[in-house]
Amino acid sequence: MKNIQMVDLKSQYLKIKNEVDQAVLDVIGSTAYINGPEVKNFQSDLEAYLGVKHVIPCANGTDALQISMMGLDLQEGDEVITTTFTFVATVEVIALLKLKPVLVDVDADTFNINIESLQKAITPKTKAIVPVHLFGQCVQMEAIMEIAKAHKLYVIEDACQAIGSDYIFKDGQRKKAGAIGDVGCTSFFPSKNLGCYGDGGAIFTNHDALASKLRAVVNHGMVKRYYHDFVGVNSRLDSIQAAILRIKLRHLDAYAQARNAAAAYYNNAFKDHPKLITPVRAPYTTHVFHQYTLITKDIDRDGLQAFLAEKNIPAMIYYPVAMHMQKAYKDARYKEGDFPVTEMLCRSVISLPMHTELDEEQLKYITDSVLEYVNQY
Ligand SMILES: *Cc1c(COP(=O)(O)O)cnc(C)c1O
Repeated sequence: MKNIQMVDLKSQYLKIKNEVDQAVLDVIGSTAYINGPEVKNFQSDLEAYLGVKHVIPCANGTDALQISMMGLDLQEGDEVITTTFTFVATVEVIALLKLKPVLVDVDADTFNINIESLQKAITPKTKAIVPVHLFGQCVQMEAIMEIAKAHKLYVIEDACQAIGSDYIFKDGQRKKAGAIGDVGCTSFFPSKNLGCYGDGGAIFTNHDALASKLRAVVNHGMVKRYYHDFVGVNSRLDSIQAAILRIKLRHLDAYAQARNAAAAYYNNAFKDHPKLITPVRAPYTTHVFHQYTLITKDIDRDGLQAFLAEKNIPAMIYYPVAMHMQKAYKDARYKEGDFPVTEMLCRSVISLPMHTELDEEQLKYITDSVLEYVNQY
C-alpha cells in the first residue's frame, strides 16, 4: 500500500509533471518572473472559471483578506464579524489593521457561521462580515447577503478552503464560493484545493472601482508608475506559480470529484455509527472537501489520533483552540464557555487524510482502523 499522507502532493504532481515542468521552464526562459504574461493569463482563466469580473492575484490568502479590508476603507475601531472556529488568518488581519474582530459561534452540523449569533453581534459600529466557507462547504450566503444589505455591511468571503464549491440559491441559480459577497479571497497554499508550489492567493470582485483600488493596493498603492494614491503593500503572485496554477485550474473540478469520492467512502463506512458524526452537507451548497472532519462522541479523540498515528495514518485536529481562547486574541469580552458549539468542536473533531490521490486500499485501511478504535467503546 502507498504511504498514507494527510495530503499527497507528490502523486498529484506526477500525473501532470510533463505539463507543469514545461510551463515552469518556459517562465524561467522568458525571464518574466514578476507580473509576466502567465499571471494575466491565469487571472483571466480564473475570472472565467469563477464567473467574476475581476480577479486580483496576490501573494497568499492572508494578504488577500488584508488587502480586501484595506480596499474597502475600513477604519480603526470598525467592527468586523467572523467566527471563532476558523484558521487564525481570518482574525489576524482584522486585528493587524486595528479593526475590531467580533467573534461568533458556528453551527455544529456545517461548522459555519451561526446566522442568529451573527445577527445578535451587529452593532452601529459593525462595518463588515467575513463568512468563512470552512472545510470546503459554503456558508448560507443568501442569509448573509440579506443581513448585509439591511445593515449596510460589506461581505468579505474567506473562500480559502472552498475554491470551486458552488452556492446554490433558492431559485436554483449557482455561484462560486467567493463570487457572491463584495469581495472573495482565496489561498493557493500547496495543500489547498487549488494549490501552487509555494505561496499564492487571489481576491475576486465584481465591482470595477474596487477592483482598480485593490490592484493598486497590492502594488504599493500605485495607480500610475511612481504615483501612489493609497498606502499599499507589495503582494504578488509569482509568474512561475501562476503558470502552475493555470494547469491545475483545468483539473480543479476533477480534483473536487476525487475528494468527494473519498468523502463518500468515509461517509459510507461511518454511517450511523453511534460514536461518529459524519460531515453534514447543507442543501444550499456543494462541497469540495478541503477537509473531511468527523465529530467524535464520548471517545478519547486524542487517543484515536495517537492510535491512527501508530498505524501510520496521519489525522489532524482542525482546530484544537478557538480564536477567543488564543493568547494573541484574548479579549475581556470573551471567556471560556461563550461559544459552546465551537468549544465542543475543538474538543471532539478529527480530520482524516483528504486529497485527490486516495485509493480504495488506503481508504479501507483508514476506515477499518478508525472503526477498530471506536468500536472498543
Ligand atoms: C489557508 C487559509 C488562509 C490563509 O491562506 P495563506 O495562503 O496560508 O495565507 C485564510 N483563511 C483560511 C480559512 C484558510 O484556510
